[in-house]
Amino acid sequence: MSTVAILAPLSVAACFGLLGPHLARRLPPRDATWLISIGAVVSALSAVAVLGLLGTVLLGQLPDLASLGHWSSSTLRRRSPIEPGIGALSLLAVLVSGVAAAFVGARRALAVLAAYRACGGIAAEGDLVVIDGTQPSAVAVPGRPGRIVVSRSLLRLLSPGERRVLLAHERAHLSAGHHWHRSAVALAIAANPLLTPLSGAITYATERWADERAAADLGDRRGTARALARVALLTGRSARQGEPRLAIGRQAVSARVSALLSDAPTPQPMLALATIALLTLGLLATLMVEKEIEHLFELAGHVYRTAATRGGAG
Ligand SMILES: [Zn+2]
Repeated sequence: MSTVAILAPLSVAACFGLLGPHLARRLPPRDATWLISIGAVVSALSAVAVLGLLGTVLLGQLPDLASLGHWSSSTLRRRSPIEPGIGALSLLAVLVSGVAAAFVGARRALAVLAAYRACGGIAAEGDLVVIDGTQPSAVAVPGRPGRIVVSRSLLRLLSPGERRVLLAHERAHLSAGHHWHRSAVALAIAANPLLTPLSGAITYATERWADERAAADLGDRRGTARALARVALLTGRSARQGEPRLAIGRQAVSARVSALLSDAPTPQPMLALATIALLTLGLLATLMVEKEIEHLFELAGHVYRTAATRGGAG
């Protein structure tokens, strides 16, 4: 079996992780968001699948399992594409990935559920909920329907145009389901830490997407940039990690203001296609490893059956 095929999905995940922040800044935000979130899931699954397949070859060598599956454990041992130590490490990595992904998935699911429940318990006309409190704040809370929770103190400090930008930004988060994209990337990172740089990239891409929607609503990119900078100054505190709430002015504000002061982003088909080609490469390598390991088990099964007909299995 080709070592290149085994290493390809892991290398692709590492490259995609490093490429993520670049995609978030170069591609139109909507394209970047979809590419990063889908790519993260595909890349994480490819890498974990290869490690799992390698671990399967090691597990298949256990005499009890080989006898149960009717294949020759000695053939698997002789023809194994990796050393037993690497197989054991692969199994351990799959186990850790599974536990980490389950933990992050459960935490995010609980947070989203709590947000949906909170939204369901709010009696409000429309999606806007104004709360009292001295701290200026504004967040989009996903739910059915989602709510935009804004403090009265912040609304008082904003001009009508700035309020419009704020609400359009938060509504864009809810209508585009940005919390689902962020959750998908968080799960992928938990399963494969090589994708860690995508955490900041997906946050930036979704914030930029909401900024662009607000700018389109207002029909004024400069005015939106000014409103964004002002809200960022007025609301300073960071959201707790793992919360599905999305706020307007806390992430990479200077880069987002610069982007709004430039022309609207245009599609970058070459960059998008090159990224898709990279991800496809990882996927194909995973399929290649799967096919080769399937053949290995078929061969081991054939040896077992031949030995059995002669009076003893290997
Ligand atoms: Zn936001």
